[in-house]
Amino acid sequence: MVEEIKKRRFRKRSLYARFVVGKDELKLFKDLIKALKDGIYDEIPLTINYDDLSIRYMDPSRVMMADINLRKYCFYEWEVSTLKDMPRIVELPQTVLVNADDVLYALGDIKNQNVTFEVKLGFRTWKDKETITVRKPDKCPKCGLPTVDNQLPYDKRGKDGRSYRCRCGWRGKVRERSKKVKVERAEFFEPRELTISTHDEVYDFSILDKVDDVPPVPAIHFDAKVTVALEMFRKKLKKLSKRFDTVTFIAKDETFIVKGKGETGSGKLVLSYSNGNDMLLNVEANGEQKAHYSINNLLYVLPKLGEVATLEFSSDLPLKTSIKTGIDAQIDFYLAPKLVD
Ligand SMILES: [Zn+2]
Repeated sequence: MVEEIKKRRFRKRSLYARFVVGKDELKLFKDLIKALKDGIYDEIPLTINYDDLSIRYMDPSRVMMADINLRKYCFYEWEVSTLKDMPRIVELPQTVLVNADDVLYALGDIKNQNVTFEVKLGFRTWKDKETITVRKPDKCPKCGLPTVDNQLPYDKRGKDGRSYRCRCGWRGKVRERSKKVKVERAEFFEPRELTISTHDEVYDFSILDKVDDVPPVPAIHFDAKVTVALEMFRKKLKKLSKRFDTVTFIAKDETFIVKGKGETGSGKLVLSYSNGNDMLLNVEANGEQKAHYSINNLLYVLPKLGEVATLEFSSDLPLKTSIKTGIDAQIDFYLAPKLVD
């Protein structure tokens, strides 16, 4: 077999994104990167879209997920540009993997300054030919289904092989032929750079990789929703974590119970409106809801990024935590339940 080798003519194209973290949001941004590094993983996928920056990924054991969305209004400045004739395959959104340590190193001792992040992402594209099959008619004239699913067995398709029966019952002739079409292909190329700078410092890092599969958010119906004062709640969880590995969340009526159980004892935190506790801000439950979680992971999905956290769960299903910060950002985490008998 002779393989035809043609020299590809590449075109270089690039995406450029620039966002400025304002000095007032800098600490929150740094704390967020640190929380993601410690809790989920140190290679962080940044998804850049026209109007927002998002981060959605799971930890290596696939027990926790972060789902962060920072709309452009969260930034002091926001600019995303692509070339005008960019083919669809290299359009936004694009997800790039960056090293949390690089970001934390660059931000290190910076205070009270705006910090500029620039992402330069290059692609090379080339024209290619692809063989496709065209059909006439391409859709069933009766029901509109594409004519790709012939209901007739091979031996009933006539001499020319064109007799066709649609699922709706329509019968007719469908002609098929191959056609060569031009397509444009692209691959991730140079540059692949993340620049972090202030008015007097500049750091350049390579982007580790491009990510093609961002996991979907779990589709769960939550039957319990509890809102707590985050710092106080974290302190109590830390106390429980000294003796216990797993806690049970129980929400019923107007009470939220966090129960730790170990071989030599148990501990319980009872939060209700009536026991005069400022930690519980709200509780809503549809019947009794009960689920078990790893207490260490629980602390990871409740990082101290704001004053208030909402916990949503249903019996034996994942927990969703949402942290309210000073800016209009979505900071959510998911934690898989522990199955305990
Ligand atoms: Zn049909």
